[in-house]
Amino acid sequence: MTPDQAFAAAVERARALGRPPPGPGPLDAFRTESTEWLERLPEPPLYPRSDDPARPRAAELLQEGIGLLARGWALQEAGRTAEADVPLVRAVQAHAEALAATTEGRVAQAEEAWARATALERESRTRQRAWVREDEEERPVWDPVGRQSRYDPRPAPTVRARIACAHPTCRAEQELSFPPSYALHSFTCQRCHQPFSAYLAESREVRSSAAPFGRRLSFRLEPLGGGASRVQFDDGSPDVFHAARGDLLAFLYTDGPVLRGVTNLSTGRTLWRRRTGPCWIATQAYGEGAFELEVLRAFRDEVLLPTTMGRAVVACYDRCSPWMVRWLEHRPRTRACIRRGLDALVERIA
Ligand SMILES: [Zn+2]
Repeated sequence: MTPDQAFAAAVERARALGRPPPGPGPLDAFRTESTEWLERLPEPPLYPRSDDPARPRAAELLQEGIGLLARGWALQEAGRTAEADVPLVRAVQAHAEALAATTEGRVAQAEEAWARATALERESRTRQRAWVREDEEERPVWDPVGRQSRYDPRPAPTVRARIACAHPTCRAEQELSFPPSYALHSFTCQRCHQPFSAYLAESREVRSSAAPFGRRLSFRLEPLGGGASRVQFDDGSPDVFHAARGDLLAFLYTDGPVLRGVTNLSTGRTLWRRRTGPCWIATQAYGEGAFELEVLRAFRDEVLLPTTMGRAVVACYDRCSPWMVRWLEHRPRTRACIRRGLDALVERIA
């Protein structure tokens, strides 16, 4: 397949796709899948050989590339991409050209397109992210104003990023800087003045699986400062969280430590964790989605769970309540009594 045929196929497929569904999901998915695809691409071969195993492999990867390019173009056509997304779409296009040229045995064209594509990839990586490493900006050999040469000792680098306060009632976004030499950083919120911490790590792999209530998210990470770690939690929120390999993530904790959410600093999107688990008796009394249920859940998470005593109460409640619910099913008068008790509690804590 020639590069022109590949592009024509992508145009046709983009037309067939039409307008992408609303919300940031389609763009996030395109970003994640494109980044994964780019990582699997081999360098183009150096010499043309008709029996080169690189050719059938390139043909396979090209088919995926055409699909991705079609999605990127459909997003652009619908005005759903930002300025910062342009280099990624163009990187996918240039890599598709390199792969198509490889399948045709045109080594020079493949080489040239591949070089262009890798430059675009680099540009895309720095344009996308919502954080800056101060020492990345190149300094002049000799700065006549500051009278410093590049051989002068450099100050320790810092990273600047927009991070939200972890407290559920605040969540104020603020510009924070921290050294990238270790992963766990403590901050004091500029708005609510409460302490919170962020664990900063690069994403290696994210998995989502079904859990008894909601889903379980597992992150394989490379923390700032090096090493390897994992973070795993259950979450009841319906939002999809996208993280491509290499994205910088900030896991946000309040005292306890209780994980409140995770921000992908490469896309600027945050997943606020919703605690899962049944609130059996209260659900029976009010029905799922009721305001009172939210108040009681917040009370459990904010007031009870941070203390040892509170955790014991919650554990006991979780253990007893399934049979309580069954027992209450045929006792409407006792249920009304309990509801009055819960109403009084909600009024006090809301
Ligand atoms: Zn705050």
